[in-house]
Amino acid sequence: MASLSLKHIFKVYDGSVKAVNDFCMDIDDKEFIVFVGPSGCGKSTTLRMIAGLEEITAGELRIDNEIVNDFEPKDRNIAMVFQNYALYPHMSVYENMAFSLRTLHMPNDQIHEKVMEAAEILGITEYLQRKPKALSGGQRQRVALGRAIVRQPKVFLLDEPLSNLDAKLRAAMRAEISRLHEKLGTTFIYVTHDQVEAMTMGSRIVVMKDGFVQQIDTPINLYKYPDNMFVAGFIGTPQMNFFDGTVTKTGDDVRFALDCGTNIDIKYIQADKIPVKYMDGEHKIVFGIRPDDIRVYNKTNYNDGNWAPAKAVVSVVEILGGETLIYANLNLDTPDAQSGAIIIKADPDTEVHRGDVIDIEISLRKFHVFDRATEKSIRRRIPEENFIKASIKDGVLSFENESFKLPAAIKCENRNDSEISMPVSAITLGNGDGLAKIQWIENIEGQTLYFLKVGELTLFSLEKGDARFAIGDEVKFDIDFTQMASETLGIKPLSLTNTLDGIFTKEKDKSRKFYHFYMNIGDAKLVPTDSICEKVFACKGNKIFHTPLEYLVGANDLTVVSHTGEAKNALVGNILEILDYGKAKYAIIDVYGQKLVAAYDGKIGDIVDVCVPVEAITIKDKSIDIIIV
Ligand code: ADP
Repeated sequence: MASLSLKHIFKVYDGSVKAVNDFCMDIDDKEFIVFVGPSGCGKSTTLRMIAGLEEITAGELRIDNEIVNDFEPKDRNIAMVFQNYALYPHMSVYENMAFSLRTLHMPNDQIHEKVMEAAEILGITEYLQRKPKALSGGQRQRVALGRAIVRQPKVFLLDEPLSNLDAKLRAAMRAEISRLHEKLGTTFIYVTHDQVEAMTMGSRIVVMKDGFVQQIDTPINLYKYPDNMFVAGFIGTPQMNFFDGTVTKTGDDVRFALDCGTNIDIKYIQADKIPVKYMDGEHKIVFGIRPDDIRVYNKTNYNDGNWAPAKAVVSVVEILGGETLIYANLNLDTPDAQSGAIIIKADPDTEVHRGDVIDIEISLRKFHVFDRATEKSIRRRIPEENFIKASIKDGVLSFENESFKLPAAIKCENRNDSEISMPVSAITLGNGDGLAKIQWIENIEGQTLYFLKVGELTLFSLEKGDARFAIGDEVKFDIDFTQMASETLGIKPLSLTNTLDGIFTKEKDKSRKFYHFYMNIGDAKLVPTDSICEKVFACKGNKIFHTPLEYLVGANDLTVVSHTGEAKNALVGNILEILDYGKAKYAIIDVYGQKLVAAYDGKIGDIVDVCVPVEAITIKDKSIDIIIV
């Protein structure tokens, strides 16, 4: 039984091949985690780093809260099961299973007990005296599992254990491994390239691509709320249908104009999670709909207003018994055009034939929309941002019927067509000059998402915890202006993460017996903790002294005091500007030619000491862009 924590884990081969980038995840005791993704995406490398078979380039791996980066594989209390079983061919099944216990010098009677127990669990008792070559693939894989079970490890790691088995056996072994997980109550981490395996076995799934984690979530959430086109396309068979197009909002009407010629007309309320900035008829978007979320029109279908009609011409019909797959095209004139290709999962009794033009209905509850350029979902379960068309006059921001006095820090010209964006966390409820009506509430994993009706507009506010208000309530709201951005007004949100260029150096002690190490930013020499030094050297060795670095530290972690020259671990700077955000004031401080932001109220020109808590610093290797600490 064990929990695991992977913090900013990187694997760089040969100094430049980045196989795993910034892998962060907390795994609870008894979870069944699946790493899934196409070949070469970094799944096995991550698993092997957890096992200790591969060195971790940077980052921190904890098992049961203990850092194990430097532990030998045998000291991690982990068992690994491989694709090729890795059984000893000259030993019997019994001896294969007993082998690791013998190396621990366990008494024979205990070994016998454990082997028999594991054999019983896996149903291989009758083969115990056979050699591996006299077993089928499935039986060998059971022996490999048995060899792992007898050691009662804290964590089970399984690397594509079923890929050498035929499809039928694979399905049976999938169920068996899931049962085994339940029975053992141990943490499992399972690697596969097969999304069906991932979906059926994992309590949570990590989808990877090109060394980057794409999304970590439960199977159902990955299916319903994919973060990007890759996840949307990778999870689910047949694959989600994608259509390039644009979207336009006219009053309360929203139209998706797909490049294949089909228009999908809906009401704004059915699409209000899509940021209105995309609804200009210009932004390139991708409309996504799963084959399961389209139905063939039938007079008896009940349409509650959440199904949009379209026409398609049928090219292939696959009758699978339980369901019928219809391969069709939305483009009736050129049915071969890739842009209109669509797959529909229909009822098994649907009667359609090649060449038929059919009426279909697309679910307006379950469609997806992606930004064509970034491929990220723009109809997210939790919207990232609010977009507002506002006017600015004499330091007052107005939209719909609401007005807010802008804080002194935000200086901009009068304009009546400004596009403003702010994250959903920037709108807070209960106080403030705004008034909204709560139109809808969603509780999403411990957070509450409010849909606020402000005049014509839907705004979102996200809070931790349960809902404090009810649908229909009128509530006051406020805006955190530090988070506001506007391209039209040239306003950027206040960045609360400071990035400072620096280096890492050593100096011989006066005794000339040992070194002092420093994190240098300009003339300042910050003293790293032992733990920082350990991580820096584990990752870079002596190369650290020649590596350009970035030191990252949060504005709210810094303490600014008047300059005394006495402060330890401090940067000396002078105040260039004070940003007055009303409730909070921030100073822009010049430190050795670089600018930083810190919460502070002082005078321009004041010389200050900026005290840096070194343990709060993130150190980045600028040359290959990896986090070292
Ligand atoms: P997966 O398990 O998802 O198929 P891997 O973790 O095996 O992917 O590999 C991830 C990437 O790292 C691939 O691009 C692979 O070529 C590279 N890689 C793996 N092992 C090594 C190695 N020993 N040296 C250099 N590159 C490697």
